[in-house]
Amino acid sequence: MGLSDPVGMSYNAFLINTGSKLVLIDAGTGGKLDDNPGFHGCGRLLTNLRAAGYTPEQVDEVYISHLGPDHIGGLTQAGERTFPNAILRASKKETEFFLDPTKAAAMIAESDNKAQTKTWLEFYIDIFEPYVKAGKFADFDDAVQLVPGIRALATHGHTPGHTSYVVKSRGQTMIVIGDLVHVGALQFENPSLSTTFDADANTAAAQRKRILQLAADEHDWIAGAHLSFPGIGHVLLAKKGYLWVPASYTIPH
Ligand SMILES: [Zn+2]
Repeated sequence: MGLSDPVGMSYNAFLINTGSKLVLIDAGTGGKLDDNPGFHGCGRLLTNLRAAGYTPEQVDEVYISHLGPDHIGGLTQAGERTFPNAILRASKKETEFFLDPTKAAAMIAESDNKAQTKTWLEFYIDIFEPYVKAGKFADFDDAVQLVPGIRALATHGHTPGHTSYVVKSRGQTMIVIGDLVHVGALQFENPSLSTTFDADANTAAAQRKRILQLAADEHDWIAGAHLSFPGIGHVLLAKKGYLWVPASYTIPH
C-alpha cells in the first residue's frame, strides 16, 4: 500500500448539519494526548470547526462512538464543556460503569491494576461530569433514533458499548463506524484482523465484517474515525475482502 513505518493515522470527527440540528460525532483528543508523539497534529477540531464556518456554541448534539481518549478528549477544555449548548449522548453500555459510583468502585476493586483502572475512570468522569452536572448528558439504549436522519447502531466489540451512527439524507445513507477499522490498508482486505486496542477481538471482527458487508450490499457511505482524511468513502466486494474507495475530496465552494 506504499506505507512506511510508522504508519500515519487520521483522527476524524464528523459534523453533520441535518437542516435543523448540528450534530458532532466524536470530539477528537482536545490536545489531551499531546505528550504522546503518536498524537502530534491532533487537537485541531475547534480550529477546523471554525474554518468550516461553525462555532462550538452552535453544536446541538454530540454523539460518542466509544470512550477512546482520542474520541472524547475534546469534550472539555480546562474542565469546562467545549460545547456549552450541546446534549452529549453515548451508549448506556459505554458509560454506566463509571457514572454509577457503586459500579466504578466495584470495577477498581476487581481490577488487577487498581491504580491504572482508577486513573482511567477518573479521566472519564472528569470529561463527562461537566455535562452530567449541567443536565446535558443523556445515555441511550441500542438502535435508537436520536434526531431525524440519525440513528444509533450497536457495533459492540472494540469496546463494550461501541456505537456506529447511521445518517440518512436525500436517499443516501452514511454509516459513521467509529473504530471498526483502524488500519484500512490491512483490515479492508482482511476484516478478521483485529488490533490490540479491541477489547473483544472476535466480536469486533464480526461487527467489522457485518458493517462492511452491509455497506457493500447497500452501497452506503462509510465514515471512519481512523481512515485517511476525510475518512469517507465506499466499500466494494473484492476477490479477497473489500476494496476501499475513498471519496474524491474537493473543497466545497
Ligand atoms: Zn480511536
